[in-house]
Amino acid sequence: MNERELLMIPGPVAFDPEVLRALSAPARSHVSPEFIQTFGNVLRQLREVCLAPSAQPFVISGSGTLAMEMAVGNLVEPGDHALVVNTGYFSDRMALILERHGAEVTHLRASLGESPDADQLKRAVSERRYKVVTITHVDTSTGVLAPVEALLGALRSSGALSIVDGVCATAGEAFHQDAWGADVYLTASQKAVGVPPGLALLTVSPRAMEAWRRRKSPVRAFYADFAEWLPIHEAYEAGKPSYFATPPVNLIAALDVSLRQILAEGMSQRFARHRRMGTAFRAGWAALGLELVPRSAVVAANTLSALYLPGGVDAALVGRIRAEGVVIAGGLHPEIKGRSFRIGHMNAVNASDVLAAVGAVERGLLASGHPVSPGAGISAVQRVLTDTPAR
Ligand SMILES: *Cc1c(COP(=O)(O)O)cnc(C)c1O
Repeated sequence: MNERELLMIPGPVAFDPEVLRALSAPARSHVSPEFIQTFGNVLRQLREVCLAPSAQPFVISGSGTLAMEMAVGNLVEPGDHALVVNTGYFSDRMALILERHGAEVTHLRASLGESPDADQLKRAVSERRYKVVTITHVDTSTGVLAPVEALLGALRSSGALSIVDGVCATAGEAFHQDAWGADVYLTASQKAVGVPPGLALLTVSPRAMEAWRRRKSPVRAFYADFAEWLPIHEAYEAGKPSYFATPPVNLIAALDVSLRQILAEGMSQRFARHRRMGTAFRAGWAALGLELVPRSAVVAANTLSALYLPGGVDAALVGRIRAEGVVIAGGLHPEIKGRSFRIGHMNAVNASDVLAAVGAVERGLLASGHPVSPGAGISAVQRVLTDTPAR
């Protein structure tokens, strides 16, 4: 009965059958008129999903980490100063990539479960001139949602280029790339974008493309160099065949389907649905006495819940919840790895998923010998989903 398991991890997520059907269709030639049309549609739709009409999109075979490395590798030159707004494990990864590309990295840190705020960032960028500032939109290890609009506002007059890692956020958490002035927004296919793993996606502002053109030294990667990919993407968007490295034609066809579904829902409706489901989850956790890793609701992601294991319950809880039919994830952040667990709620997440997941957590806790009142979490979820205040 594996196919009846509900996959609720922070990526890969459960995929829509229409998206999966595109993967199993016969492969097209990457220079066929049909595929060129599909790739062009994907690029145009990606701009709409990121609310970035002015951006240059890139769709490359690889995972989210490649998207991070492409952003860094094309914008940073050895000796450049970079500031990492650090909210967890993936901010640390961004710092490692920056260092590998020769940047001098400074961290702006907050305590675990919190995010640096706009005032702190404003102060940091007034103390030194940074070439790039990186922000993790949602850090998947802590469930912290960075106040990204305010952080980008704090950067505006500094001249620094911003790179926002949206891998656990894009198409789930509100983001208006052009209006908020983000230079690079990047993600991967397998999280809120709703396509199996294998695609790195970026939207790059004209200002960042200009900074790349003005580099003094060549990009220190061949496969990840914008110079190789820009002509290909421009050709595909203009309806012309082109080749640099073979695109994953089936994944791109699946992305076309998923982006169409996302835009049919509408970005503001989609952001609102994720917020509503996130709120319902948080009500369920509170009713079960579970503590979120994010220290306050304003920095709590709507795309996943990172929770502390309650006292006396160990990480075997994850396996007990799986036995109840819902697949969740263990901890990731090294400081709380063995003391936390995570539930993804992005892409197609709906009311049934919230009830199923919270119900499975209740049963898993009971099976772990932890006293909860059966139905307490579900009942709190239902009050949110039906707009019924607690009595
Ligand atoms: C998952 C994730 C990544 C890494 O993506 P991969 O596809 O696993 O390489 C990077 N940043 C964030 C915020 C993520 O959630």
